Amino acid sequence: MNISDLKNSIDPVKTGQELHSLIGKLYPICRSITGSGLRQTLDILKHNIPLQIHEVPSGTKVFDWVVPKEWNINDAYIKDSAGEKVVDFKKSNLHILNYSMPINKTVNLQELREHLFTLPDHPDWVPYKTSYYKENWGFCLSHKQFLNLTDANYNVFIDAKLEDGSLSYGELYLEGREKAEILISCHACHPSLANDNLSGVLVASLLAERLSTISHRYSYRFLFIPGTIGAITWLAINEEKTVNIKHGLVLSGVGDRGNVTYKKSRLGNAQIDHAAYHVMKHSADKCDIIDFYPYGYDERQYCSPGFNLPVGCFSRTPYGKYPEYHTSADNLGFVAPECLSDSFIKIISIFEVLEENFNYLNLHPKCEPQLGRRGLYTATGPDEMAMLWVLNLSDGNNTLLDIAEKAGLKFETVLRAAKILCENNLLKKAIV
Ligand code: ZN
Repeated sequence: MNISDLKNSIDPVKTGQELHSLIGKLYPICRSITGSGLRQTLDILKHNIPLQIHEVPSGTKVFDWVVPKEWNINDAYIKDSAGEKVVDFKKSNLHILNYSMPINKTVNLQELREHLFTLPDHPDWVPYKTSYYKENWGFCLSHKQFLNLTDANYNVFIDAKLEDGSLSYGELYLEGREKAEILISCHACHPSLANDNLSGVLVASLLAERLSTISHRYSYRFLFIPGTIGAITWLAINEEKTVNIKHGLVLSGVGDRGNVTYKKSRLGNAQIDHAAYHVMKHSADKCDIIDFYPYGYDERQYCSPGFNLPVGCFSRTPYGKYPEYHTSADNLGFVAPECLSDSFIKIISIFEVLEENFNYLNLHPKCEPQLGRRGLYTATGPDEMAMLWVLNLSDGNNTLLDIAEKAGLKFETVLRAAKILCENNLLKKAIV
């Protein structure tokens, strides 16, 4: 089975449901950039794919950064003067400022307020906040909960540990016929957030699972890493491997109901950029293509000038452009099964273009070969036109994607034409 067979065998409804239910399984876990929640998440992914889990000790220098101490949390709450828990980590892991220091003390309302985060514009939502690189403690709560805090004093309790340990990440390498690699990277460091973080994690995991069942040209490297520090750590430890990365995608926010957005690599004209553009242009849905900018997800690290890798970012509504972003409203209802499967299929379609994008040579370049004699010229239709385009442009200078773009035809149509021409000894793959 090859990638086109894989693409054609996808059942969108079943795939969407499968992805959504896997997100539901990981959703309750309190993840962070280090610690047991991240490790537990990687362990669960191991049920479906043979992920290798790496541990990098705290204090390891990675370019201009240092792997932080490991953070683990058991419990946290705010109790009012009657001893009632008014904010409770056990009810939602978003209630804790991620990476909060341990604390157990009584504070007055004024001091407490300096450590509280709310969203006045969305009074029912709880924000997601972090303090990875500055020691602090805090709670996130709905603005409605906040307005109910009227006691003079509160007991704040955070049973957390911040100590030397390690940063965990998951890696899976699928060897292809070529050493050249496609990198798929996603961040797995957010607690109960469904679209930002888990949608990318589960789509990447299912891609790995399915690609491992077919024969593929490229090698694929999947990274399940904590955002920013995970990508920096991987790049610092694996710098020599980056020469093999010929194409790459960062996946995040791939399950919301917005349009697909492809953010180009810093190079802007890499093959992955052309392949993504082609798939988006020929999709029945509206898709957006945006230029690289040095903010967003881990494409920032892969596309830093010292690496400048051909890595784009595939998402639906971009980073920070939806009100539910980094709030409790990015929940299981916010991600739609049909959008998850649509993203999955579009990514496979991009990989199909990359896998099959070869140069071909017309074996009868002097005038047109007689297609009718070979039963290949019945009437003018997309396949016949595609054959004429492929024959005409297969002089060694155009890839199939170039031909599809020039002909204004879908890549799969041009690919089918090329295969028919090869079977009829009119075309052969150019040896590069
Ligand atoms: Zn995020």
